[in-house]
Amino acid sequence: MADDLAQGLDFKALYGHPATPAPPANDATSLGESEYSFISDKSSNDGLESADSPAIAEIYGLQELTLPSLPAPWSSITTDSTIPFRALPSHHHATWARTYHSRPEFLIEPKTVEEVQKIVSLARKCRRRVTTVGSGHSPSDLTMTSSWMVRLSHLSRVLRVEKYPSEQGPEAPRDVKRYAGRILFQAGISLEQLNIAANEHGLTLPNLGSIHIQSVAGAIATGTHGSSLNHGLLSQNVRGLRIVLADGSAVWCSPDDHSDLFRAALVSLGGIGIITEIEMELAASCNIEWVQLWEPLDSVIATWNNSLWKSDEYVRCWWMPYLKRAIVWKAHKTDKALAKPKASWYGGLLGFYIYHTCLTVAHYIPRLLPTIEWLIMGSQYGFKTGSKATAIEPQRTGLLMDCLYSQWVNEWAIPLRHGPEAITRLSAWINGDEASSGIPFSSKGLYVHSPVEVRVADGSTAHTKTRGFMDPSCESEPTLYLNATLYRPYGLDPPCRQRYYQAFEYLMKELGGRPHWAKNFATVSHQDLRGMYGENMNRYLEVRGNVDPDGMFVGAWHRRLVLGEGASSKSEDATTTNIGVAEGQGGVEDIPHGSTLSTLNAVAAPSASSLPLEERLVATQPRGRAGGVDWIGMQCAEGTSSLGGTAAEIQLVDDDRIVNGDQEASVLLARLKRDADVRRVTGESISKDADEMYKGPLHKTGPGALPVV
Ligand SMILES: Cc1cc2nc3c(=O)[nH]c(=O)nc-3n(C[C@H](O)[C@H](O)[C@H](O)COP(=O)(O)OP(=O)(O)OC[C@H]3O[C@@H](n4cnc5c(N)ncnc54)[C@H](O)[C@@H]3O)c2cc1C
Repeated sequence: MADDLAQGLDFKALYGHPATPAPPANDATSLGESEYSFISDKSSNDGLESADSPAIAEIYGLQELTLPSLPAPWSSITTDSTIPFRALPSHHHATWARTYHSRPEFLIEPKTVEEVQKIVSLARKCRRRVTTVGSGHSPSDLTMTSSWMVRLSHLSRVLRVEKYPSEQGPEAPRDVKRYAGRILFQAGISLEQLNIAANEHGLTLPNLGSIHIQSVAGAIATGTHGSSLNHGLLSQNVRGLRIVLADGSAVWCSPDDHSDLFRAALVSLGGIGIITEIEMELAASCNIEWVQLWEPLDSVIATWNNSLWKSDEYVRCWWMPYLKRAIVWKAHKTDKALAKPKASWYGGLLGFYIYHTCLTVAHYIPRLLPTIEWLIMGSQYGFKTGSKATAIEPQRTGLLMDCLYSQWVNEWAIPLRHGPEAITRLSAWINGDEASSGIPFSSKGLYVHSPVEVRVADGSTAHTKTRGFMDPSCESEPTLYLNATLYRPYGLDPPCRQRYYQAFEYLMKELGGRPHWAKNFATVSHQDLRGMYGENMNRYLEVRGNVDPDGMFVGAWHRRLVLGEGASSKSEDATTTNIGVAEGQGGVEDIPHGSTLSTLNAVAAPSASSLPLEERLVATQPRGRAGGVDWIGMQCAEGTSSLGGTAAEIQLVDDDRIVNGDQEASVLLARLKRDADVRRVTGESISKDADEMYKGPLHKTGPGALPVV
């Protein structure tokens, strides 16, 4: 029964040699150390010297590093009672902006790679899908699940930091010239923790986005980027990684080892397996000197093609659509001493709350938004253009920014050369000139929040050795990222969202764009994505299908968008979503889209009316049927709907069980649930022999024997 998944895997055919030595059934064979050695016996095939070739290792005197040897798949790992299964039931998972919520059956937090392997093996036996989560900062429903959620918060150690002798590191893209070192770490570490550890050795991550609290694995999985034509995605600096696949094997892959698996795992969307260790290249740590200029939009557009984006290593803009101005922020490395930015009355808590309050008022009177933009941005940057601010900060923190409040974010990658057209047309549309915008949606009476974030990256093949198959940046030219941010003041959804995003996405698609995987794109179908990625998506899906034929690592988001399977409650022709009341209570009610909040409240959990709506929805785990598919669990965007103005927007999560479990799987699952409950009550760590439990009589002690499900 349990071996059905493994039979679909032929690593030898796929990758030239088995992922792990083929063990006799139920034999706890360990991998040979050479399988996970950092110093591979392969020489680089691109003419560039690779730092993991023996020659380089000799030159640099690198210590050979071997990751701990791991039990092979189908070993007795699931029955090894020394390997704990650290599961908690009743976890409430939500995005940073609290826009999506779900309640996984278990939250599991392993402390070793063997535990990760055990989770995967047990999930397969129980017929459960597995969603890996980092810090849960992806703004979409990407990590929502009703099945098992794995979080690597305890797998967050730095394993090794290596500094290259000066000027001898491997070549880095463009102005960065050479990498200064490399770092091997466990995948659950945050960008911040990683950078702090690297800084202690005089090293730093070459680039960062706006924040650094994401896990590194999560950031690379979604194509996270900063803003610099000297850099591609953050994943560009990954030298190799180890990933636990659906058959329980833990495979090291890199541009030279299992290269297709590596390219699929680089921007994996969590859909390939669980990444446990990563090695990345680093730059020399330093300070950066930044300058911030308040400029007319016209001059930004006028300098677009010749000087703007190449004027410094890091350049980004925030465009204010009603003022037709932009903040242009530029930074470069410097040896100068730190110098704090000048404090302004607006920059602190006062400004934070004034803006938040203004946005709340604008929720009810949207036509105030242009005035608010003038008032708030004028207070901060000056009522005339030409103001300038500057500071010197460590690169580790200087590249970051304050993202303020809960928000919807819709960011697209388009060719940089289309930037002036994109901004001019969107500006015309937002400012009421629909005819010259060429966007076939009415902007009448529609007002948006500022600013639109304008950033760049260059992950093109001219500069990047190995791109992920699902890398959204442009393959053969520099990329512009446009991010249409909409704040949610005190959790209120802006009334413009649906129409603004339809118009914005129409324009992005017309200009050859691809959406940022983690963000809130709204009008993109699986077919659209296939058209956008072409052969690269085929290759991603091929690798994915080969290493995870049963779809253990695909959640509802993946099935809807990446696999093109199942029904979506977001589909335009769906007029109702049927949800049942709490499991076991029976009954199914039709909830029309745009229902009033009180209807939803009544259905969601009448008995728990003191809880906030989303808590109530996830607490009851409603079951339902939509589009002929069984659904379980629920996501809910709180606040009022942009459609009706009265309802919470709800979205059911389809059933994350792979298939209904058979009797054996059900018994095992019941026991795992029981033990997870025991752990919740007693706080004890579980270290059970799953197979023994599986064979033995049902446990009669603890918080109550569970029925066979
Ligand atoms: C305030 C804010 C600011 C942001 N700024 C930027 C920015 O400047 N630039 C930008 O590009 N993006 C930005 N983002 C988006 C963010 O970087 C991505 O959503 C990132 O994926 C979040 O990382 P995470 O650790 O929270 O991952 P999660 O959201 O938890 O997970 C993201 C994906 O990674 C997968 N994953 C996580 N860990 C593993 C693992 N160990 N193995 C396999 N798969 C795994 C998950 O399954 C999921 O598919 C921002 C988001 C927020 C909320």
